[in-house]
Amino acid sequence: MSELLPCPFCGGAVFLERPTERPLHSPPDEWWGVVCRNTENLGGTCAIQQRPSRTKEAAIDRWNTRADVSSQAEIERLRTALSKMANEVFGLSVFEVELRSVMGNTNWSVLRQRAEEARAALSGSKE
Ligand SMILES: [Zn+2]
Repeated sequence: MSELLPCPFCGGAVFLERPTERPLHSPPDEWWGVVCRNTENLGGTCAIQQRPSRTKEAAIDRWNTRADVSSQAEIERLRTALSKMANEVFGLSVFEVELRSVMGNTNWSVLRQRAEEARAALSGSKE
């Protein structure tokens, strides 16, 4: 039997269990589901539970084959777009005096701060 991947929401350990919710009129001993029991999720339980499957193997397969929403190509595309946007904001700094007067000190400061956060996130996420 293959191993279960960690919870995609909190990274916690998950368990193969008899689900508390299952199709109507079905005996409880026919269904399996994977549940996250992480209790270190901001003081509560994550309690993410997958839709039940008829067999242990099907439940494990279903849990482990979630759609990958963060393919490497997609991440790279988003990194490039974020990097370009941050660079554009930094490039606008040559007009800082005018921009501060047009958009206000606070708006300009927030925009600069967000660009710096984006740049820090991009450099921090490089592996
Ligand atoms: Zn979880």
